[in-house]
Amino acid sequence: AGAYRTSMEFTQSAKLANVCYDIRGPVLKEAKRLEEEGHRILKLNIGNPAPFGFEAPEEILQDVVRNLPTAQGYCDSKGLLPARRAVVQYYQQKGVSGVDIEDVYLGNGVSELIVMALQALLDDGDEVLIPAPDYPLWTAAVSLSGGTPVHYLCDERSDWYPDLDDLAAKITDRTKALVVINPNNPTGAVYPREVLERIVELARQHGLALFSDEIYDKILYDDAEHTSTAALAPDVLCLTFNGLSKAYRVAGFRSGWLVVSGPKQHAASYLEGLDILASMRLCANVPAQHAIQSALGGYQSINDLVLPGGRLREQRDRAWELLTEIPGVSCVKPKGAIYAFPRLDPKVYPIRDDQRLVLDLLVQEKLLLVQGTGFNWPHPDHLRVVTLPRVDELEDAIGRLARFLTGYRQ
Ligand code: PLP
Repeated sequence: AGAYRTSMEFTQSAKLANVCYDIRGPVLKEAKRLEEEGHRILKLNIGNPAPFGFEAPEEILQDVVRNLPTAQGYCDSKGLLPARRAVVQYYQQKGVSGVDIEDVYLGNGVSELIVMALQALLDDGDEVLIPAPDYPLWTAAVSLSGGTPVHYLCDERSDWYPDLDDLAAKITDRTKALVVINPNNPTGAVYPREVLERIVELARQHGLALFSDEIYDKILYDDAEHTSTAALAPDVLCLTFNGLSKAYRVAGFRSGWLVVSGPKQHAASYLEGLDILASMRLCANVPAQHAIQSALGGYQSINDLVLPGGRLREQRDRAWELLTEIPGVSCVKPKGAIYAFPRLDPKVYPIRDDQRLVLDLLVQEKLLLVQGTGFNWPHPDHLRVVTLPRVDELEDAIGRLARFLTGYRQ
């Protein structure tokens, strides 16, 4: 008989060495601790509509409930046919050509599909271009898949559009794919068609796959219009990601989709890999798939929230006004999504560690935000504010931020 090992240490896998997701990181732990002590924390850190009193359209809730009895079994690993058919139609309307039912994968939120799409593609050392700032799941998922995230800068002085020179300069022989997040989290930028055309041209020239995260495509303000990257790139392999979490306010259902378009004949092996990963997780949550068809086909109540007088629009306006009134704070007015990404002028606020800053803000003012470096922004001079709370709560929160920052000024 062999000897028993007595004291085994369990350490995390080396695969996680460069995997970082600060939105739910160490600062959140401190917030939980403070809550356990009995403090009430104003949480403007997560883009989750439901806790802020946003409700899902009634008809999609009814669809899920009505179909619950028939949603007990596993389904096809790509998802239910009526839901995938609705997704196909949606992309036809958005001008994406050649999408077939077999090109649609339903997932437990966009999050699962992002990880699957990168795991299926990347070998160790393959590079993926990701915007800075980004939604950090993209960077984390590239690292987890053995790839190397390479960040291209978005330019705050140009409405946070991608800096195309920087993007072009960062393409190498190892670059496999280029990620676009539009409308953008955390900046709220919505890219004009011409900017997207130039990004597509770079992907075309260098043989890159395009990954377009369009989860906020219906949350648009003012005159912003959304163009699907894939609509401009019929000759480039595109994976477009979207879902129900934001526009239909059911983030907890975990319901999203991925659509493949472009020259699929050159991606047969990759898509086979994606099929393997989809099969390994059997299928996405079936009850939530029943929400997709009526969500996409029904009355788009999100429009009432983003048009003038709509709740999301008013909150975006008020948050932006209040933030830009703080001395030394500037902010590009968000054209989409549910965030503001203000800049703290380093001459006024000499911040060295922005995680420390949000931790101090939490402890002093019981307000929880996420630091800009949590979105892979390279300088400690930005914060992300979620614009989901009602106006009075935003006023309270940004008032606390202003008071706190007074103590940080030079
Ligand atoms: N992509 C972006 C840009 C996001 O902001 C989020 C959530 O905040 C996600 C993806 C994840 O969405 P899901 O709930 O579909 O997993």
